[in-house]
Amino acid sequence: MGGTGSGRHWHWGTKSTTSEFRSIDVRRWAREGFLTPGRRFSWQWTQEGEVVAQINASVERGYVNLSYRSRDYGEEWESHDYPVRLLAQPCHYGGNRQWFACPARGCGRRVAKLYGGRLFACRHCHQLVYPVQREAAFQRNQRRADKIRERLAWVNDPDPMEVAKPKGMHWRTYNRLVAELEHWEEASNSSLIQYLDRLAWEY
Ligand SMILES: [Zn+2]
Repeated sequence: MGGTGSGRHWHWGTKSTTSEFRSIDVRRWAREGFLTPGRRFSWQWTQEGEVVAQINASVERGYVNLSYRSRDYGEEWESHDYPVRLLAQPCHYGGNRQWFACPARGCGRRVAKLYGGRLFACRHCHQLVYPVQREAAFQRNQRRADKIRERLAWVNDPDPMEVAKPKGMHWRTYNRLVAELEHWEEASNSSLIQYLDRLAWEY
């Protein structure tokens, strides 16, 4: 994964399996130093050494613009070009932590990962589009994460001023809750991947 390369385009298949399910991770991009204003880069997904998907990204202050083409089975190619807000959260020990704000209309959740179908969005949004019959493990884990978000007053609020430590909460409590939140969101991520393995996705 990653790096720059040719301008090859890609499409989602009619039924995407987990291996075809693209995600982008803001932590990875931050670590690679990609999230500097003015920076342009391509992000690729490979399978057995072959590039199977690519998006282009350009970074502005507070935004990363995603640009790519997608195609539903039997449909025309569709170009996408839209900004995803970047939220910088000051860390207790200095520096900033970056997050994506989910670009789906009416969402704006602060997340580390966005999942691509036609558009990149958070798990909640994919879940809303594809309701499930019974509660799956990823939903249980997500519910735990959501409860912690409520305590942190981070629910659905993309404003970076609102994602800091709540007033009156001890740093120790805050740090523990952030760690728990990450744990449950990771758990939810991996159980979602397992869940998707058994589910045929239509794009
Ligand atoms: Zn969302």
